[in-house]
Amino acid sequence: MSVKPLIRATSVGKDYSAGAVRALTNVSVDLYENQITAFVGPSGCGKTTMLRIIAGLDYPTRGSIAVEGNTVSGPGPERGMIFQAYTSFPWLTARRNVEYGLKILGIDKGKRRERAMEFLRLVRLDHVADHYPRSFSGGMKQRVALARTLAQGPRIVLMDEPFGALDAQVRWEMQELLIELVDAEPRTIVTVTHDIGEALYLADRILFFTRQPGRIKADLSLEFKQGKRFKRKEELYDMHGYRDMEQQLFAMMREEITAAGAEI
Ligand code: ADP
Ligand code: MG
Repeated sequence: MSVKPLIRATSVGKDYSAGAVRALTNVSVDLYENQITAFVGPSGCGKTTMLRIIAGLDYPTRGSIAVEGNTVSGPGPERGMIFQAYTSFPWLTARRNVEYGLKILGIDKGKRRERAMEFLRLVRLDHVADHYPRSFSGGMKQRVALARTLAQGPRIVLMDEPFGALDAQVRWEMQELLIELVDAEPRTIVTVTHDIGEALYLADRILFFTRQPGRIKADLSLEFKQGKRFKRKEELYDMHGYRDMEQQLFAMMREEITAAGAEI
């Protein structure tokens, strides 16, 4: 029995500036339900572009994306997006920020409140539900964004360097929180990162992109995890095969950076 892909990219290419910038070329890949996939690769390789095309926020120059067999032509409620920059509304409390996301889906007032509180509890912000995000730390702001997006119930969550702006310690707390959230309610996650450690911890599968024009250099399923997801990041380091995979990713990253002739 073959399992149908949830997301299918067929020969996706993307040019900018009338073809002067070739951001992506010939990306074909199938992504499956409840998998966590990380897009990894050097800066400028088209990771954000690919994610935005899946989100329907940008369109491919060549090829297409389909979600459950339907060609993507714009954003849809089954796809939620989380950006690096904090995107909560400063004039609304944390709870109202989450409720707002539900209001635009047409959910009635009583249910909105209940569901907003449920998701604020999950991201451990229920004690500050009626506070304004401007008084929050970066990690707390990003938890508001997570609660708002997840409360909308998307099957697919697309994240572009979601923890990239956070301090190292808050970043791993957020990574562990994300694993906890998908453990409680399975979702299909596509996350962009250039942090190899983050990709190794979060992902079931890593798609490594080449330098520009971006295409898939390697499609790695993280067999060393033995199908597990880890509550604590350090549990990963004991897994046989972890170091090898880490080395392989560093080598690929170096290869792409060096080939581009980049000087640091
Ligand atoms: P990454 O997220 O991997 O760092 P991006 O997808 O942001 O890479 O960008 C890929 C390439 O496309 C880069 O060279 C970038 O400058 C270019 N690019 C991205 N968006 C635009 C745009 N709107 N107009 C012109 N060039 C763009
Ligand atoms: Mg990017």
